[in-house]
Amino acid sequence: MPDEAFPRAVAYLQCIEPTCRATYDAGERIYACEQCGGLLDVQYEWRQARLTDLLATFDARRASFHPHDVSGVWRFRELFPFATSPSQVVTLGEGNTPLWDAPRSARYAGLKRLAVKHQGMNPTGSFKDNGMTTGVAQAQRLGARAVACASTGNTSASLAAYAARAGMRGIVFIPGGRIAYGKLAQSLDYGAATLQIEGNFDDAMRLARELARTTPLYLLNSVNPFRLEGQKAIAFELLQQRRWRVPDRIVVPGGNLGNVSALGKGFKELHDLGLIARMPRLTVVQAEGAAPLAQWRAGGREGNLIPVKQPKTLATAIQIGHPVSWLKAARALDWTDGACATVSEQDIADAKAVIGRDGIGCEPASAATVAGLRRLVAEGVVHPEEDTVAILTGNALKDPDFTVQYHTGQLFTDAERETRVTRAEGRLASTFANAPRRVPADADALRQAILDLIAELPSLTE
Ligand SMILES: *Cc1c(COP(=O)(O)O)cnc(C)c1O
Repeated sequence: MPDEAFPRAVAYLQCIEPTCRATYDAGERIYACEQCGGLLDVQYEWRQARLTDLLATFDARRASFHPHDVSGVWRFRELFPFATSPSQVVTLGEGNTPLWDAPRSARYAGLKRLAVKHQGMNPTGSFKDNGMTTGVAQAQRLGARAVACASTGNTSASLAAYAARAGMRGIVFIPGGRIAYGKLAQSLDYGAATLQIEGNFDDAMRLARELARTTPLYLLNSVNPFRLEGQKAIAFELLQQRRWRVPDRIVVPGGNLGNVSALGKGFKELHDLGLIARMPRLTVVQAEGAAPLAQWRAGGREGNLIPVKQPKTLATAIQIGHPVSWLKAARALDWTDGACATVSEQDIADAKAVIGRDGIGCEPASAATVAGLRRLVAEGVVHPEEDTVAILTGNALKDPDFTVQYHTGQLFTDAERETRVTRAEGRLASTFANAPRRVPADADALRQAILDLIAELPSLTE
């Protein structure tokens, strides 16, 4: 692609604090406002003229073979025009994730219809790839040679892959204790240096931020606003798949709250630019044991969010007590008249099995969406007829232990899964168990078992 065809606008960084709003050059290597410590947004001086017929341009690119058009992120590049050269783009064809109807999950939640957008079908199996491709583009622009993150797993898997593709050193800080093996395996395979910190996620995050100040590491956690620019494309691609029809509601699980923040910013910009006529209501679902945003909203949204000291959930991707992006998330829920809910460990585990029966596997954290919808429909917050999309955030194969333990009646809320040691308390009910069956290696014995299995099949319309 010739350089001049690559969209560029004046991009700058701006503090989100209403009383500050300090601005910085987009080429500055900062992660927070130097005046007040607030979070930063990437902002643009949009050139309206270049935005006419943009949706048609995006649609036309679906017939292109250029890697930047094939990417489900860079296809929408006019909406995050910060890169200064196409050579900064490192793409694995991220995005392009399916939007599926999930009729059993809909019925379970009490909805007439439910669609799921499966971000777990990304190159490294989570939506983190959408943000990592833009984060690494900014790292390239800054000439960084080493990139780093603190992560409970998926960010590190994604960072490791994109760093490898870019020829950069990837360094990941992983908290001690429980980490899903699928994710650890990815970081190792993609060649990242993996540092297991003896502490929880919040400790790992604090150390990574400190080292990004005192060493040349470029930090690619979601505090980095260039990550969130790529995650906006989840909103754009979802709309494109729906022929640019805005749904009534979009539901996401909430951990560090970067994803809901990115969706909020993406929809707000589309609305401000006149590309969509209304906003969907964004809805965040947190696990009961790690629900600081839900607690802050339930407490009347006064003052600052109170961190959860020892966040606890088997859905490790959302086991976060002090979410970095909570103010951006609060803003996104305000902009979209959104909602926030909590769900129990049992709710998450059962919802995951129900989603599975739609032929769709996902990570435990992703299943919080369907569990949350079930709760919000029961409480009358969500209307059964709402046109709703749940964002499934991660791939089922990230955390197979959870799935096998559920189906075999071995899922404990307190077990140390990594070591398979046994401080095993709080056994969860395997409500929709589908355990393997032990059978003799004998065709005659099996024949009757198979006939019984076929006889108990539900009708296809059920
Ligand atoms: C990162 C992640 C989340 C949490 O997203 P946030 O942006 O931190 O709120 C949820 N599910 C999966 C699978 C993830 O990888």
